[in-house]
Amino acid sequence: MNQIQRRHSLPVRIGNIVVGGDAPVRVQSMTNTDTADIDSTVTQVAELARAGSELVRLTVNNESAAAAVPTIRDALAAKGVEVPLIGDFHFNGHRLLSDYPACAEALAKYRINPGNVGRGEKKDSQFATMVEIACRYDRPVRIGVNWGSLDPELVARMMDENAKSAAPKPAEEMMIEAMVESALGSARRAEELGLARDHIILSCKMSGVQDLIRVYRALAPRSDHALHLGLTEAGMGSKGIVASTAALSVLLQEGIGDTIRVSLTPEPGESRSREIIVAQEILQTMGLRPFVPMVAACPGCGRTTSTVFQELARDIQAYLREQMPSWRERYPGVEQMQVAVMGCVVNGPGESKHANIGISLPGTGEQPSAPVFIDGEKATTLKGADIAAQFKHMVDDYVIGHYGRNA
Ligand code: SF4
Repeated sequence: MNQIQRRHSLPVRIGNIVVGGDAPVRVQSMTNTDTADIDSTVTQVAELARAGSELVRLTVNNESAAAAVPTIRDALAAKGVEVPLIGDFHFNGHRLLSDYPACAEALAKYRINPGNVGRGEKKDSQFATMVEIACRYDRPVRIGVNWGSLDPELVARMMDENAKSAAPKPAEEMMIEAMVESALGSARRAEELGLARDHIILSCKMSGVQDLIRVYRALAPRSDHALHLGLTEAGMGSKGIVASTAALSVLLQEGIGDTIRVSLTPEPGESRSREIIVAQEILQTMGLRPFVPMVAACPGCGRTTSTVFQELARDIQAYLREQMPSWRERYPGVEQMQVAVMGCVVNGPGESKHANIGISLPGTGEQPSAPVFIDGEKATTLKGADIAAQFKHMVDDYVIGHYGRNA
């Protein structure tokens, strides 16, 4: 894996997971079920955890949701799902955490948005109540500033001061400053209230790629708190994936970021786990952290007019991901395996030789045979109508032979 120099950050323990310090960059997600719907929420949290989410956030927006959290935690434990649950609080978090102590205890971390804690005189006392409860239960807090809900009183005060200064800064620069100050000022206040420095994670989410990069570049050198990265309101489909990848990759390459979330809007009916797969693929393709064996596949061209090669590439990728929950336990290191599925003999053998195991399928008009390479050497040539099934068996044998405990 790549040796990117990570920014120094304090390690923060969240349940059975550490974020920051020397820990690998963590992947997290958020449910989109009604938290009060216990069955749906348990099912989705379990699905996200199985896909690889190391932390799962739930909205705790009303009394029914707060009352449901301990039952959700217990139901997950009964299924053997120990993923830490994070409560996302806005406006009434101080009251819900006070009135539902079992909820406060069942959650492993609280997310507080300083722009949505309260207005006017109530803001400070409501923020203090949430921090005091975090201290009482020894829970860390993420101070999560969001562009769309930035504290309006803070913005007004900073803009006013800027306007009166001898050399006023541009408004965009002041908005970045206000985001950073909202996070750092809230962290200072939380520490004054007794929350340990290593119980605080910061985030400053924005929806524009360049804005997100600017705000984290401004924040990172001014704090040693662990940082949560994410492009907020990234959007749907390829736009959401591309925008998140563009923003997060630049920051991760600069060593900034201890945990990431890819905030995708799912297509109707689409699995929520997509955001986990994208987050893992960002980290893995950057060489930061392996999760699943990677499949190199050529794009195909006029030499591959059948769909056999596309189907095999898709099936092998899906097969490897499906196996990972059990392979991770039984075959340590298997996530580093490289598999190649190539469409014809032009680049196929060369690319296959660089993989642990690779296959070069016959292109249009080529002999119906597929050479397979293992660790750079030609191992065999597969023939017949079931080349895909034969290759899958060879992948299984490779995994058992190279990553099994007795290998
Ligand atoms: S390996 Fe063959 S099929 Fe794939 S893109 Fe190259 S020439 Fe086309």
